Amino acid sequence: MCEGPSKPAYTAEDRNWHISAERFPYRRCERCGTLFIESLPADPGRHYATGYHPFDERGEPRWRTSPALLEAEAWRVRTLDAVGASGTLVDIGAGAGGFASAAKEGGFQVTAIEMDPDCCTWMTDTLGVQAICTDDPVAALGGLPPADVVTMWHVLEHIPEPAAVLSAAAGALRPGGVLAVAVPNPVSLQARLLGSRWAHLDAPRHVCLPSGRALRDWAAGSGLEPLLATTSDPSGRACAVHGWVYALGTPPANGAMFRARVLGGNAIAGALAPLERRGDHGAALTMMVRKAS
Ligand SMILES: [Zn+2]
Repeated sequence: MCEGPSKPAYTAEDRNWHISAERFPYRRCERCGTLFIESLPADPGRHYATGYHPFDERGEPRWRTSPALLEAEAWRVRTLDAVGASGTLVDIGAGAGGFASAAKEGGFQVTAIEMDPDCCTWMTDTLGVQAICTDDPVAALGGLPPADVVTMWHVLEHIPEPAAVLSAAAGALRPGGVLAVAVPNPVSLQARLLGSRWAHLDAPRHVCLPSGRALRDWAAGSGLEPLLATTSDPSGRACAVHGWVYALGTPPANGAMFRARVLGGNAIAGALAPLERRGDHGAALTMMVRKAS
């Protein structure tokens, strides 16, 4: 992100999905704290193969029954509204449309960019949202008219060259438009304490985790005015709980052990909340910036 010098951080395994037994060295920028994988996996798609299924057995997206996800999306829409954003909105990496749905309800005209065909079909058929199915967001943005808002919720960390996609996103805004970004926070309390065991490292799928400082410096260098940066919004707080639950080990899908881990993780998150909700210490960072008019 800042082209600063870096040094080895640690070597991590795929603790979340166990798709391979490979070990992945990560480095940390000594100047801005950004964390990044030393070399990309040879076949990145393989490490997504058996992972997260965004739809339940009835074909409903999981966010629809998750109060934490619904609250996180509602906060994002309220906050965009509070900074005066309205009109057309492009959501990059829209997944199963949790935010797209909330934004549409909040009055935005939403276009989704998403690489998963099932997610795109669901958003088009059920939400009535235009969904562009591609793994090349830069090309997709180039084919759209200038937008009032571009959002990237937990997308950048999957992209080897985040600065290129950020620049394309800023370039896709009309003058005065708002760019909103959320990423796992590589300088968070839990990232520092848990190291390679940190759930939001998600090796090897998260290949570059830009720090708040890196994002702020990038925005300033790109002529974007800061509007908001926080690590304690509902999404950041949910990420904190998730991080502590998984710090105790990957919980089974249900049963007594699952409940014990969730209770334990919530207890740790509650005890550390006064620290985690201060400054740049939370598990995930949300930033909004405005393009000059
Ligand atoms: Zn850096």
